Amino acid sequence: MNYTAKEIAQITNSKIIGNSEIKIKNIAFDSRTIYSTRHTAFLAINTKKNSGQKYIENVIEKGIDTIITEHQIDNSSINQIITKNSVEFLQTLAKYHFEHSDINSIGITGSNGKTILKEWLYQCLSNEYVTVKSPKSFNSQIGLPLSLLQIDRKHELGIFEVGISKPDEMEKQENVFHPKIGLLTHIGTAHSANFSSEEELIQEKLKLFKHSEIIFYNSDNELTHKLINQLYSSKNLISYGLKNNNDITIVSDVNDRIQDIKVKYFEEEFSLPINQRDEATLTNVLALIGILKELKLSNLQIKEKIDALKAIEMRLESIEGIRNNLIINDSYNLDLDSLKIAFQFIGEYNKPKKSLILTDILDSNENSEELYSEVSELVNEQKFDKVFLIGEEISSFYKQFNSETYTFNNTNQFIDSKVINDLENQVILLKGARKFEIEKIKEILELRKHDTVLEINLNAILHNINFHKSLLKPETKMMAMVKANAYGLGSYEISEFLQHHHIDYLGVAFADEGVELRKKGITTPIIVMNPEQHSYDSVIEYNLEPEIYSLRVLELFNEQLIKSGNQLKYPIHIKLETGMHRLGFKDFELDELTEKLNAMNVKVQSIFSHLSSSDMPEEKEFTLNQLKTFEKNSSYLIYKLGYEPIRHILNSSGITNYTDYQYNMVRIGIGMIGETSNPEIKKQLQHSVSFKTVISQISDIKTGESVGYSRRFKAEEDTKIATIPVGYADGIPRLIGNKVGNIGINNQLCPIVGSICMDMMMIDVDNVNAKEGDSVTIFNSNPSLEEFAKYCDTITYEVLTSISPRVKRIYIKN
Ligand SMILES: *Cc1c(COP(=O)(O)O)cnc(C)c1O
Repeated sequence: MNYTAKEIAQITNSKIIGNSEIKIKNIAFDSRTIYSTRHTAFLAINTKKNSGQKYIENVIEKGIDTIITEHQIDNSSINQIITKNSVEFLQTLAKYHFEHSDINSIGITGSNGKTILKEWLYQCLSNEYVTVKSPKSFNSQIGLPLSLLQIDRKHELGIFEVGISKPDEMEKQENVFHPKIGLLTHIGTAHSANFSSEEELIQEKLKLFKHSEIIFYNSDNELTHKLINQLYSSKNLISYGLKNNNDITIVSDVNDRIQDIKVKYFEEEFSLPINQRDEATLTNVLALIGILKELKLSNLQIKEKIDALKAIEMRLESIEGIRNNLIINDSYNLDLDSLKIAFQFIGEYNKPKKSLILTDILDSNENSEELYSEVSELVNEQKFDKVFLIGEEISSFYKQFNSETYTFNNTNQFIDSKVINDLENQVILLKGARKFEIEKIKEILELRKHDTVLEINLNAILHNINFHKSLLKPETKMMAMVKANAYGLGSYEISEFLQHHHIDYLGVAFADEGVELRKKGITTPIIVMNPEQHSYDSVIEYNLEPEIYSLRVLELFNEQLIKSGNQLKYPIHIKLETGMHRLGFKDFELDELTEKLNAMNVKVQSIFSHLSSSDMPEEKEFTLNQLKTFEKNSSYLIYKLGYEPIRHILNSSGITNYTDYQYNMVRIGIGMIGETSNPEIKKQLQHSVSFKTVISQISDIKTGESVGYSRRFKAEEDTKIATIPVGYADGIPRLIGNKVGNIGINNQLCPIVGSICMDMMMIDVDNVNAKEGDSVTIFNSNPSLEEFAKYCDTITYEVLTSISPRVKRIYIKN
C-alpha cells in the first residue's frame, strides 16, 4: 500500500492530528516485530484480551512517527490518526485497498492445510504471476486485513488464507476480501469447540465464497459436498479428493510405491512422481492441481512445479554456533517477504552484534535495480555489523549497503576466505536461495557438543498411529499424549507433525506445556491433564481445555472463567475415577457435579477415565470392572447433562487389548512410539526412536589393569575397551554399569565395564571389530529399547523421559 495519512483518514472516516501529507506504506501492530520505521504507522489494536495502547511509547522510542489510535495521546511531535475502533479501521482500509486493486485472487479456508496450500500455490505460481500472499498464517480478523494491505500495484495475483474461530466471523472476512477463486480445504474437528455442529462450521466457512466464480472443495467429506451444492448450485464447483467420484482424484494404487501417482482431472489422466503419500499430502496435491489447471498451466508445467516442491519449512531454525554465535538459518527460500519475517525474528534475540549472509534473490519478477534497492533499504535499517553478499548479482549492488560489506561470487569462495572466523558473540542470519547451498556455511558454524543424538523417525510414528487407527472404527477420534516433552521425543516437533496429520486432540500434563505449543503455532485442541490452580488464567488465555477431576477444581476454574470475562461455553473434560485411584469423580459426586455444571458457562467436551492395567492379561477382570464402572457413571452423567460429550478411556494397550471399548475417542501414547508389551502387536509396529553416539577412544588393557572410578572393573585377561561420550548426566542410570547393561556396535552387544561416569562410559569391545569414530547404539535396534529398559530395571516410558535435554534430538522423515 501507499497512501497519505489524509487519504487513509478519508477512507476510514477518521480524524488526523499532525502532518496529513505523510506517506504510509506499512502498518505495524506488534511493537516487538517492527523491522522498519520508515513510512510505517503503528496501529494500537484493542481487543478484548489486549490493548495496543500501552506499546505506543515503546514504538515512538523505536522511531515511529505516526500512530493510529482510539485514544489521542499527548505528544505534539507525533502524527495521529484517531479512529473509533481499531479493528474496524483495519478492515475498512483493507477492504478499500483490495477493491481498488485489480488482482486475481485466491481465498483459502478450511480446517487443515490452508498454510501449506498457500505456500505451495505461491511456490508454483510466483514465477508465472507477480504474486502476493499472506505472511506466515496471518488469517484472522486482523491477520487477513494486514495481509491484504501488502498488495501493490505490481501484483497480478494474491493468495490469502482466511480463518475463523467463532460463528459469524466469516461474513466480516468476506466483506473485506471476496476472492474470485475459492478453495475449501479439508474440514476437520480442530477449532470446532465454538460451533454447535460440523454443519454450522461448514456453513460458516462457505460464506467466504459468496462472490467467488469458481470453488474448489474437498468432497471426501460428504456433508461439505451436500452443503456446497445446496448453497452454490449456480457457481462452477469443482470437487477434489481421494474418493473416486471426485472431479479431480487419484486412479492408481498409492501404496504401490514403484508406480507414479496417476491423477484424473475430469476426463484427462496424467501421472506424477510423488514420494510422500500420506492422505493429507495427496489431497492437498489434488487441490493444487485444480488451481494450477484453472490458471492455465500445462500438464508438463504442473509436473515440474510439483516435483520442485519442498516440504514446507515454516519456521526459521536457530542453532547454537561456535564462538558463542547464534545462527538463524533459512536456506529454504528467499524472497522479500521471507526476508522481512527473518528480520522480525532476529529482532527478538539479545546479542550485541549481528551479521547477515545473503545470496542473490532468484525467481523474482522485479527488475534487479528495484529489487536490490528495496533489499538494501531493508537491510540498512537493521544496522548489521557486517553484511556478506554471495552471488554475482547482489554483489554488484554492494555500494548500496551501509554496513561493512563483503562480496563473493559463490558459497565456496565465501568459505575459503575464512571471514567467518572473525565472527563471535553475534546473531548470524543465513538467508539464501537453495541453489547457493548456504547450509554448508551452517555446518561450519554449528557447534557440535558431541555426536550423541536421539534420532526420531517421524514416518515410523505415523505408521504406528495408522496401525492403531486401523483397529478402530473410522469415526473414532484420536488424542495423542505429548506430555513430558512427548515422552522425551520433543513436544513441539511431534505435535507439529501430528497436527499436520490431522490428529484430533493433543494431551499434555501441565498448562505450561500447552502454552509452549500454542506459542509455537499449534492450533489443535489441547487437553491439560493436571491444570494447577496458578495456571488457570493461562489455560483460558491460550485456549487450552482443562481436565476437571474434583468439585474443588471445578469451582476454582469457574471463578477464573468468570474473572476472565469469557462469554462462550468453555470446553472442559470430566475425569471419572474407576479404579486407578489417582484423580477423578466418584459415583456419589455425580449429582452435585451435574447441578454445578449445568449452572456454569462451560461445555463438557468429553468424559473420560484411565485404565490402570490394560497391558496386563492377568488383570483382565479388574480392567473389565473399570470399563463397567465407566460405562455406568458416564451414561448417568450424560443423562443428567442432557447432551452427549465425547467419551474415552483407552490408552495404547487399551486400543489393542480392549478395542470394543473405544467409545468416540482413544488416547495413544507409547504405542505411537512403537512400544508395547504385546509381542504380536510389537511385530506390526516400527521403532521410532534410537539413541546413538560414536566411539571417542579405544585402549588396550592388560590383565589386572582397572577401568574407571573406584577400579570396579579389573581385566581378567588382555582386552580392548572403548570410551563413549554418554554418561549418567545424559540419562543412563549408573546401576547398569559394570556388566549389567550392554551397548550395540555393528549389531553386536558389548558389555559396559566399570562404573558409568557423568559424561562417559567404557565398554568392552574385544569381540567386535570397532575403531575410533564408529557409531554405537545405546538402544534400538540391538539392544532394543525394551531390552535396555530391562537392564535399567524399569519401563520404556521412564527410559525415554530420563534422557537429558542436552542430548540433541534429530528428526527424520523419509
Ligand atoms: C499418558 C496417558 C495416556 C497414554 O498412555 P500410554 O500407555 O502411553 O498409551 C493415556 N491417558 C492418560 C490419561 C495418560 O496420562
